[in-house]
Amino acid sequence: MHEEKQKGLTLLMARWVLPMTSPPIRDGAVVIEGDRIIAVGKWKEIAREFSAEVWEFPDGILMPGLVNPHTHLENTNFAETIKRPQTFNKWLLQMVRLVRSQTFEDALRASEKGIGQMKKFGVTCVGEFSRLGASFHALRNSGLRAVVFKEFICLRDEDAERQLDELAQWLEDAKGLMNTLLNIALGPHAPYTVTPNAFRQVIGLAQRENCRICVHAAESPSERKLIEQRKGVWRWWLGSVLRDAPIGLSPIRYLDWLGALQPQTLLVHCVQVDENDIALLAERQVWVAHCPRSNANLKVGLMPLGKMLSAGVKVCLATDGLASVDSLSPLDEIQFAIKLAQEHPKLYPALLPNHWLWMVTLNAAASLGLDRFVGSLDAGKQADIAIFRFSASIDDPYDALLSEGREATATMVAGEFIYQRM
Ligand SMILES: [Zn+2]
Repeated sequence: MHEEKQKGLTLLMARWVLPMTSPPIRDGAVVIEGDRIIAVGKWKEIAREFSAEVWEFPDGILMPGLVNPHTHLENTNFAETIKRPQTFNKWLLQMVRLVRSQTFEDALRASEKGIGQMKKFGVTCVGEFSRLGASFHALRNSGLRAVVFKEFICLRDEDAERQLDELAQWLEDAKGLMNTLLNIALGPHAPYTVTPNAFRQVIGLAQRENCRICVHAAESPSERKLIEQRKGVWRWWLGSVLRDAPIGLSPIRYLDWLGALQPQTLLVHCVQVDENDIALLAERQVWVAHCPRSNANLKVGLMPLGKMLSAGVKVCLATDGLASVDSLSPLDEIQFAIKLAQEHPKLYPALLPNHWLWMVTLNAAASLGLDRFVGSLDAGKQADIAIFRFSASIDDPYDALLSEGREATATMVAGEFIYQRM
């Protein structure tokens, strides 16, 4: 042991350390220098090499901070008024009314509330779909790492030029407010809410600005009916959006026709997909954010997760916003997915606990283009960490984490604690 403590280092030790890229370490430790992890290993070995301030969690599991790649933080307060479960069509109409009466200030307060909840659940990084840009400002001052996708809706080509100018201006302004934890990206809302012409221009803007894009896709049967056949309840309301789009393509094939399926693309939902869609998603190497609790609450069906994974589609788990789920906890999302796997073994695979956890750590980070920096505990990565404490002794840390919904004891981003419940 060194005589003097090494300056600028922090040591975290815990009963279990879960690097996620290697097996769990019993009595493990992580060494942090500034905002980075510099070593991960057995406490005994780490203690021989490093001497510094030590934070001990003898009853805890220490893991990479959870990544929630799809939220709508501005909708946090809608949880109190919106009915769930209900059908997607009715839900959407209620959402349109709520969103129209929301002010920027309301959205800002709602976002701050949602951010507070995520820190408690061990979330350190979020993929946020921001309608008003309010959540961008809330996240900017939150200590969380984030990719903010600015929502874009354009129902008529006559409005496209003005709306695209506004979007480009928002990007410019946001760039001036960036910090090292914040990334900006574009969110063309869905294939039925953006005209093909405007959609292509958003893709072009994203390419020029080197931004990722996020799109809601193939969520409800009504969406598929509208895009593929121009039929169903949405025909009169949204049919004109697709005036210049070909008939006969599924939502996924239509997005491919637009050029939207790229490795930098994150598609949310993908429930209404057939075998050809699944093959295309795998071929294009796009990311899919699966939100099983939201899908159940809006009665849109079950995503064929088993087929997707066997075809090689890249899938992560996300909670979606509080207008359609009961919590922003990725661990709650996994528990629900495990229940689905028990109830629907033909559609849903029984994955090992560490596979589920990859979907809210490393895979979720990759879906946001951040897996080089976060998502696992490896030397050189950012010190984004979540710690969960248990009263009973823990024999299997993966099982313990997934056995019950729980709040984190501490959450750290870039070497700084952003939440502590000691
Ligand atoms: Zn969404």
